[in-house]
Amino acid sequence: MSINLSNIAKKRGIKYFLISFVDLFGNLRSKLVPTRAIDGMQKDGAGFAGFAAWLDMTPAHPDMFAIPDPESFIQLPWKPEVGWLASDLWMDGKPVEASPRVALKRQLEQAEKLGFRMKTGVECEYHLINSDGTDIADTKDQQSKPCYDQQALMRQYPVISQICDAMIELGWGPYQNDHEDANGQFEMNWDFDDTLKTADRHVFFKFMVKSIAELHGMRATFMPKPFSHLTGNGCHSHISIWNLNGTQNLFDGNNDARDLGLSPLAYQFLGGIMHSADCLAAIFNPTINSYKRINAPRTLSGATWSPDSITYGGNNRTHMIRVPEAGRFELRLMDGAANPYLMQAGILACGLDGVEGNRDPGDPLDINMYELGEDIKGYKQLPHNLLDAIRLFESSDVLRERLGSELVDAFVKLKKNQWNDYTSHLTKWELDNTLDC
Ligand SMILES: [Mg+2]
Repeated sequence: MSINLSNIAKKRGIKYFLISFVDLFGNLRSKLVPTRAIDGMQKDGAGFAGFAAWLDMTPAHPDMFAIPDPESFIQLPWKPEVGWLASDLWMDGKPVEASPRVALKRQLEQAEKLGFRMKTGVECEYHLINSDGTDIADTKDQQSKPCYDQQALMRQYPVISQICDAMIELGWGPYQNDHEDANGQFEMNWDFDDTLKTADRHVFFKFMVKSIAELHGMRATFMPKPFSHLTGNGCHSHISIWNLNGTQNLFDGNNDARDLGLSPLAYQFLGGIMHSADCLAAIFNPTINSYKRINAPRTLSGATWSPDSITYGGNNRTHMIRVPEAGRFELRLMDGAANPYLMQAGILACGLDGVEGNRDPGDPLDINMYELGEDIKGYKQLPHNLLDAIRLFESSDVLRERLGSELVDAFVKLKKNQWNDYTSHLTKWELDNTLDC
């Protein structure tokens, strides 16, 4: 055991540890463990009843143990007496294959066998809203094109700067913060890194933003489309594959005939993602609300900034995949509800399928998809609702083979239950439009 949590606690003044895990619906679950008990927990894990979280387990299942990864340790900047730990789930002495962090580690192991190390950055958009969730927090933020609005940004300086200061203190390398395209919407960017590290930070970022917003009397939401007339919350990911010691970006291509600065490996990886993108939507856009962001009508600002078709282009934000510069691409499909581990596992699974299957994404499209998207033919569309997405995910041979049936079946079962729960509720829309039928 290289990192001893007890010693860290003594050195940093930690009184409690949050031993946490993320379930299949992306919910962060934890136990708050006093430092006096951390030695045993580091070795054996914290016990949970799996059925009580969104995992495919019954009340009859034995205890599930969250074994913390000491490499993931983060001291809460806004409450330094607490340390946070990401964990892997175990049951009956074996890792729980149908759990998100284990699933991502499995894909990283596959990549490593091929000599690949995936690095990613994420752009987590969120809204600052009032505490009951009915409106944005800053009611003065009303411009129809509010992106980069300095005045609205600076009215939220106390909360934005506290989050950014925290990221600086944690060594994440934050480099910019802005007001995004919707009223009340913000984005904060920090350095890309190894995928597992980015995924752990992504989980923690959401927890931190919500916690610090609450300290300021607000609430933060990463919900894909919290307001129907405003741009939704995306979670774009920038992707590159490196050699194992991290010295060479294998996506860099000097002699790219398509002139985007990508290597043949990058095109294969990209081709794999495009091949399965409609099936990936279930984990990239995992909520009922997600489908109000993709395929959405134009918003107040003039654009949704989200895709509806499976296309790629150069430095053009109207496509599902953008290649902003040589050596990486940006996948713009995911939204704020995407599970930080499952989304990266899905990217890697389908990217590796592209590499091993030599999938060709075809030529990039250089058009404004928001204007001309309906005129082009031969490009697959994204699913229009969660049920279609779940069915596509369920039927994908690529995802079943690479993510494993245990994970696919568990996710599909829980999500279908959720869909059935949703459709069992009578809505106002139905009454308004059907009562007099
Ligand atoms: Mg953005």
